[in-house]
Amino acid sequence: MNKTVLITGASRGIGAAAARLFAKEGCHVIINYRKSKAEAEKLAAETGAEIFCADVRDRSQVDAMFSACGGVDILINNAGISRFGLFSDLTSAEWHEMLDTTLTGAYHCIQAALPHMIHQKDGRILNISSIWGITGASCEAAYSTAKAGLIGMTRALAKELGPSGIRVNCVAPGVIDTDMNAHLTKETLASLQEETPLGTIGTPEDVARLLLFLAGRGGDFITGQVISPNGGFVI
Ligand code: NAD
Repeated sequence: MNKTVLITGASRGIGAAAARLFAKEGCHVIINYRKSKAEAEKLAAETGAEIFCADVRDRSQVDAMFSACGGVDILINNAGISRFGLFSDLTSAEWHEMLDTTLTGAYHCIQAALPHMIHQKDGRILNISSIWGITGASCEAAYSTAKAGLIGMTRALAKELGPSGIRVNCVAPGVIDTDMNAHLTKETLASLQEETPLGTIGTPEDVARLLLFLAGRGGDFITGQVISPNGGFVI
């Protein structure tokens, strides 16, 4: 696939798996990272990708990244953070950090990517939501709110941008084995596996393969959808 793909928060986890897979498929990959320069450089050396440091919450950093990297054909809004705790204890700073990272970050990146996509009447935008944005998770109200917001943004933009040939979809993974879940105890992981019909939690590669499908010819007639690789955990 001879396309340019920009993946936010891609120095590790799902973003890094997507960077590897898209690079293997012949894409020009741009890895966005915020803090993990060494990890991003290592991944760039392995994949031949370019790297750009930008905090997606900061409009000027995002604009500078998009100006430097030229036209992006496929944008994957993957950057995210997690926060556990009672809603009563959620601070204003934590609330805003969650919404700014997930929603404002996607808003900044999509707006920066659009002029090129609209000009070429073609483009793919893939927003990484979560099963918790569909079902809601106890003690993860801010995360669930932000991920549900991404689903709303996806559906609205699919309608608005469809006439410009731009497909906008959400991928809403179930529990995936990445650093984001490193805090889970062995017992919690075992019970999550037990509750999953396919009997396993997912890998970053499981999500990456779906992203590649949606970004390629498989996604030609798909827009405004929420597709959830979750092993049957949420049906
Ligand atoms: P991860 O923590 O390994 O990756 C998230 C990346 O986003 C990190 O590299 C982080 O530095 C980056 N990031 C955070 N804030 C940023 C910012 N302001 N600007 C730029 N980058 C920023 O976790 P992951 O599991 O690979 O998560 C990737 C995405 O998948 C996230 O959006 C996450 O919410 C979502 N997700 C993960 C799971 C799971 O079980 N792991 C399930 C559903 C959805």
